[in-house]
Amino acid sequence: MTSTKSSCSVCDEELEAHTEAWCNACGLAYHLNQRLDLPGKDCGQVWVNEEFLALEFACDTCLNPVPETGSLDDVLDLGEAAAVAGLTEQALAAAATAGQVPHRLTAGGVYLFKRGDLAPFLRGRQ
Ligand SMILES: [Zn+2]
Ligand SMILES: [Zn+2]
Repeated sequence: MTSTKSSCSVCDEELEAHTEAWCNACGLAYHLNQRLDLPGKDCGQVWVNEEFLALEFACDTCLNPVPETGSLDDVLDLGEAAAVAGLTEQALAAAATAGQVPHRLTAGGVYLFKRGDLAPFLRGRQ
């Protein structure tokens, strides 16, 4: 028997048919209980994208990103980064979307910036 049961990318436990879902961000499988009448755990979320009226799946790993290196002090959310750059949050988000500032947009729609990435941006402003 070569049953290749897949395991959850978040908690590493075995997945069953009714608890298996795939993250749209990283493409890995995770627990998402899709049966109210059966026990199951959730290691991520699913929601409706209002723009495309499509279901979006995201695992907890992508919803709660952990910075790979450096301290948490170097990772800024939109509000903190805007304060550092002396911009409004809207202006900084627009600059990030336009590719002028390196950033990370999480599956949950949260902008994250690295403090060091804002330095060249600041020099350009004077
Ligand atoms: Zn899991
Ligand atoms: Zn994921």
